[in-house]
Amino acid sequence: MPDIRIGQGFDVHAFGDGDHLMLGGVRVPHVRGVLAHSDGDVVLHALCDAMLGALALGDIGKHFPPSDPQWKGADSRAFVRHCNRLLAERGWRVGNADITVICERPKIGPHADAMRVNIAEDLGIDVDAVGVKATTSEKLGFTGRGEGIAAQAACLLVRA
Ligand SMILES: [Zn+2]
Repeated sequence: MPDIRIGQGFDVHAFGDGDHLMLGGVRVPHVRGVLAHSDGDVVLHALCDAMLGALALGDIGKHFPPSDPQWKGADSRAFVRHCNRLLAERGWRVGNADITVICERPKIGPHADAMRVNIAEDLGIDVDAVGVKATTSEKLGFTGRGEGIAAQAACLLVRA
């Protein structure tokens, strides 16, 4: 068994009624909300899938099924902390994580550092080990048309 593992994750939520998005645990004002069972935080959901994937533990839907009422409106930071405990139990920790948010709006840049701080805190790692950046899809596809928001994440696990 090597001393590093890699994982990647991807998540999408459609926009719906609302006045804010939860992104990286940060409440970002917006003219729409998202349709989701939990708080619909694409940043943290992509990160959880990357963490779980690195140890082949399945996906976020398996660990936090939308059919389970205990996750209704859930704070996705609890998902991240739960995934981090699963890694720790197996002798691993996140070395670094890198996340890309894909949307036309809202602007991510002004909130990226606050997201990094939240994620670093939940993972118990240095904020310099967490990257959050954003891109548009040049007005193409569902993100380009403003129908929803997507995020992808990669993380490296190292031996704890
Ligand atoms: Zn999600």
